[in-house]
Amino acid sequence: MTFADLGLAAPLLQSLATLGYDTPTPIQEQAIPAVLAGRDLMAAAQTGTGKTAGFALPLLHKLAADEKKVGSNCIRALVLVPTRELAEQVNASFREYGEGLAVSCYAAYGGVSINPQMMRLRRGVDVLVATPGRLLDLFRQNAIKFKEVQVLVLDEADRMLDLGFADELDTLFAALPRKRQTLLFSATFSEQIRSMAKARLREPLTIEVSPRNTTVKAVKQWVVPVDKKRKGELFMFMLKDRQWGQVLVFVKTRKGVEELVARLRAKRISADSIHGDRPQAARQKALESFKAGEVQILVATDVAARGLDIDDLPQVVNFDLPIVAEDYIHRIGRTGRAGATGEAISLVCADEAPLLSAIETLTKQALSREEEPGFAPTHRVPATGVMPSAPKKVKKPRLGAAKGTPGNWVGYDDFTGEKPVRRTGQPMLFPTGNGPKPRGARPKPAGKPRGR
Ligand code: AMP
Repeated sequence: MTFADLGLAAPLLQSLATLGYDTPTPIQEQAIPAVLAGRDLMAAAQTGTGKTAGFALPLLHKLAADEKKVGSNCIRALVLVPTRELAEQVNASFREYGEGLAVSCYAAYGGVSINPQMMRLRRGVDVLVATPGRLLDLFRQNAIKFKEVQVLVLDEADRMLDLGFADELDTLFAALPRKRQTLLFSATFSEQIRSMAKARLREPLTIEVSPRNTTVKAVKQWVVPVDKKRKGELFMFMLKDRQWGQVLVFVKTRKGVEELVARLRAKRISADSIHGDRPQAARQKALESFKAGEVQILVATDVAARGLDIDDLPQVVNFDLPIVAEDYIHRIGRTGRAGATGEAISLVCADEAPLLSAIETLTKQALSREEEPGFAPTHRVPATGVMPSAPKKVKKPRLGAAKGTPGNWVGYDDFTGEKPVRRTGQPMLFPTGNGPKPRGARPKPAGKPRGR
């Protein structure tokens, strides 16, 4: 099958030829005709499958064919994404594909001044890519009207829920026109996502391009057991010993990220970081330098795990395991893309055994363990493996909303600076229930007057 067979407009075919996209990927083959036909969609697809073009191409085709001029402060298509980085990336894809079309595209996200966004929206935008918090701010300040929205795309819907955007999504759903096309993309499908889809989508076509909750096959994955305090030393050793080139490293906390970066720089190894404490411009620059090959090691918290489009990355290292098992899939999705093979190595200490077990259960595969000579842990990592049934769901603690940002203890770092984060309904925090207690999670005293 070719893109021309899918009936896309000539300027789109021209852009695709320029980009060197010869044939549609499986998700594109299925999604493009369905979107063109006006169907709602519920698509299980990870980053790297070509899902962005799967919704961007048919949307651009439809909007260009419609020729309707967008009203002032109005938008015709809304793409909701969880992070600023993904907003930039998706917007860039729309612009690339839609180069030869008179369809305007714009990205709006938090962490940067809202004024230029308000100014730009005055002229109306055909495709707006936005993060939920900033979009609601714009809506509440009357900078945006939803009455012309024809299509809503929820990209990485699971991630949006992970980041505590459930309330924002509910508010937005209530504000959007009921008569619209809705496309939901998610790497994983929790019960929460399924019930959202049931409530918000109209007889959606379900597309699944890789089996549910499995990791990309082309990635060789293994675990190196190690004592917690020796992880830094082990990473430095493996980097040198195995002569790794560019590596994307995931560390649980912002502090941990900075410590590793400092350690690398002390050895004159070029390293940069992406985490929520860094200004947007610095994060963008770190990503671009890494993509350009100017930085060898990019150390990130989970904020970077999704949507980063880095080609041919041979190495991903989980310095710490993610707290939410699904994030493992997203993290290692950075490597082994587009048919290339990659390696995903997890440095695991004894405390992380429950997290490892949750990952193995979710991905339905036991990860092999390979000790590094000289780094055998004194605290043995307990045996893990695929559990016969899903581990007991542990109710996720609420973080103190007044504090605004999640504590580092959870290893989450996707606070966008847009809204206080309240996470909801994530499975498998600590399957044994022995995890650390959240800071600031104490219930508020009853009857205390609310601040303004
Ligand atoms: P995505 O899953 O949307 O993040 O896309 C992953 C990567 O695949 C991006 O670098 C795209 O530019 C690329 N891509 C998407 N569709 C195709 C295609 N049909 N042929 C070649 N590359 C593609």
